[in-house]
Amino acid sequence: MSMEQWLSEKINKTRKAGLYRELRTMSNAPEPEMTVNGSPQLIFSSNNYLGLANDPVLIAKASKTIQEFGVGSSGSRLTTGNTIWHEKLEQRIADFKRMEAALLFSSGYLANVGVLSSLPEKGDVLLSDQLNHASIIDGCRLSKAETVIYKHADMGNLEKKLKETQTYTRRFIVTDGVFSMDGTIAPLDHIMKLAKRYDAYVIVDDAHATGVLGESGGGTSEYFGVSPDVVIGTLSKAAGVEGGFVTGARLLIDFLLNHTRTFIFQTALPPSSCAASSAALDIIENSQEKRNRLLKKVRRIKSTLEEMGFTVYGGDTPIVPVIIGEADKSVRFSNKLQENGIYAPAIRPPTVPKGESRIRLTVTASHNDSEVDHLLTKFNDIGRELMIIS
Ligand code: PMP
Repeated sequence: MSMEQWLSEKINKTRKAGLYRELRTMSNAPEPEMTVNGSPQLIFSSNNYLGLANDPVLIAKASKTIQEFGVGSSGSRLTTGNTIWHEKLEQRIADFKRMEAALLFSSGYLANVGVLSSLPEKGDVLLSDQLNHASIIDGCRLSKAETVIYKHADMGNLEKKLKETQTYTRRFIVTDGVFSMDGTIAPLDHIMKLAKRYDAYVIVDDAHATGVLGESGGGTSEYFGVSPDVVIGTLSKAAGVEGGFVTGARLLIDFLLNHTRTFIFQTALPPSSCAASSAALDIIENSQEKRNRLLKKVRRIKSTLEEMGFTVYGGDTPIVPVIIGEADKSVRFSNKLQENGIYAPAIRPPTVPKGESRIRLTVTASHNDSEVDHLLTKFNDIGRELMIIS
């Protein structure tokens, strides 16, 4: 069979299952309103939670650094790619997360894969939440340790698994801080207590919580007042830039720098991104009012959608998943939103379980009241038209 034949068959299967994916093209900077495939759309699906991706202070910082340092870093951190901006940002992240030290990665994805594939060893076990992000799943797959899945945020089930895994050398509980497709907040206070009782380590991926949860935006650790062993994050969501990081004890960071392949064999981030991220963290720490406004908006959207009759998942986070059900109905819902100037893609299996396809809304601090009103009106109209609500 030719490659063309083979791949056509596979793609046709994907199409038939209603799971075909396509790129859409944005032709302006990240704002609440963007031009998507040539038409103006209100964006309710970006991770730019605090509106920093197009912030003038960050742009100025990145531009100045480009003038001084060029556009690329020219090498891995261990060869020629390490600049004062990488080191400044790592110190800034460690202070922000109230940890001893931090290590930058090119993305949050690579930070998760790197930590999970290098830290737990053969004979260890990873206890992983059922709804953890793909990058955690991939890290677990690459690890020489075994993986045991516990039911989503189910502390009874986690305790059961901890009891069942006492013969392993080391146990690592790994969880998202805020779950990307469900918007739930991991019960980190409870997880920490179980970890202490059963002598396990805790690794948290705080990609969606960083900048959003906690008094100064420190994430789930600050929100619950706890200190996990390893906190991973990304600078690509609330911070509005790019890059991933790991924070923890200095010894942990030294270990990762020496043993983690996704750190060692990757070109360093551009210095301009590091400078912009550093400025973003300064803004994030002083954005309590913005966070409060964002939370108010989230609560209003959720309660209104629930009053209309929609099933809405998640906690007090900017991720608002509205359950539609079947994959094709979710795609129709999303297409109708787009016809009405709202961009919020459908999330389908295998990203979410069968029968739980959804419109995953994300709300940002930059959305104004009339944009939210428009969203809610259109949800009501389309929900009735597709007989999801009555
Ligand atoms: N963890 C979670 C929970 C995420 O949602 C994402 C991004 N979708 C990542 C990690 C990866 O972060 P990055 O985009 O920086 O690779």
